[in-house]
Amino acid sequence: MARKFEDVDQCRSLSEQALQSMLAFGVPTNPENFEVWFHYAAGSNPHLKKTLDELEKKDEAIDPTIIEEIRSEFFGDKNTNDAVLDISSKMSGELNRVLEIIQATGEDTSHFGNTLAGAADVLGSADGGDVRHMVEELVAATKKMEARSRALEEELQRSTAEVSQLKENLETVTHEALTDELTNLANRKSFDKELRDAARDANNSGAPMCLIMSDIDRFKKFNDTWGHQTGDQVLRLVAHCMKTSVREGQTPARYGGEEFGVILPNTDLATAEGIAEKIRNAVQGKKVVKKTTGESLGTITLSLGVAQLTAEDSLESLVKRADACLYAAKHAGRNCVKTEQEVGADAVLEAKAAS
Ligand code: GH3
Ligand code: MG
Ligand code: MG
Repeated sequence: MARKFEDVDQCRSLSEQALQSMLAFGVPTNPENFEVWFHYAAGSNPHLKKTLDELEKKDEAIDPTIIEEIRSEFFGDKNTNDAVLDISSKMSGELNRVLEIIQATGEDTSHFGNTLAGAADVLGSADGGDVRHMVEELVAATKKMEARSRALEEELQRSTAEVSQLKENLETVTHEALTDELTNLANRKSFDKELRDAARDANNSGAPMCLIMSDIDRFKKFNDTWGHQTGDQVLRLVAHCMKTSVREGQTPARYGGEEFGVILPNTDLATAEGIAEKIRNAVQGKKVVKKTTGESLGTITLSLGVAQLTAEDSLESLVKRADACLYAAKHAGRNCVKTEQEVGADAVLEAKAAS
């Protein structure tokens, strides 16, 4: 959405269209939503246009959670989106240059080929003088071709280096957009995507899939006692324990604040419970030491809840059940793991609803 809008009349017309459409579908006319509908009216992004066209076709008020999803999909992280667009346009410019170079090389080669073919014709019926003249022409054409080839090769090398640099930048930006800065774990955006992918794969293959939700115990008190910065150090410690307790393909993520999720593809409830126990033990086994002073701050603990995906689950309901098991673990005294099998999913959901 990097397009600029500077024409007063055009902007007024787009604003009016956006506003009318928002009012017609009961969308709150706040600045965030206005941005979405303004770009919709302008047709800035064909995919956004198609998504909203389909919603408007339903002719009913648009659910705020759907608007939230659209916002995060199309306007999620402005800086990241702009950076990606910038790199993409540079990359496409460089690739066009590479294509031009390849084309130019082709033309030069074909020109050189024609010179050679012409020479072969003449040589067939030539006398001594013609031959010398022809050889001189061939030597000149060959030298010219050599020089041109070298120049093109250098240009090609420069462009190739530029493309690899841009590719690297793109990878960095993509990684940053999906990583939590503090803990270096997958962030919420990445968690949502990984969970969606894992659930789809599980539904397709019929393999079990589990989700652990976990939360640091009495973390507010820890922050109040030792300060927010030391609290941040604890978040990094917990993240480290999670990373070292899971295998490749299992994704620990910072769900938000002091809450973490672990996505476990191809894993049944009993195995997932074992992994949750491993994480709980790893965290409990670490002595927290204040970095600046070396002072010992004791230990911290985690409560964890584990749920397994069912055929009827939406992503939301799976997270809700794992979260409800986490709540049951808190209720049972903290520093423990509860699975939905152990607690009974219905009982857990009722407890959560009553809280
Ligand atoms: P419980 O055992 O019931 O989970 O108690 P709690 O104190 O951990 O729960 P509560 O939800 O009351 O407090 C969560 C605390 O987590 C409050 C907030 O200051 C802290 N927190 C959330 N995000 C961060 C963060 O990024 N850094 C730090 N240092 N603290 C955070
Ligand atoms: Mg919490
Ligand atoms: Mg907590």
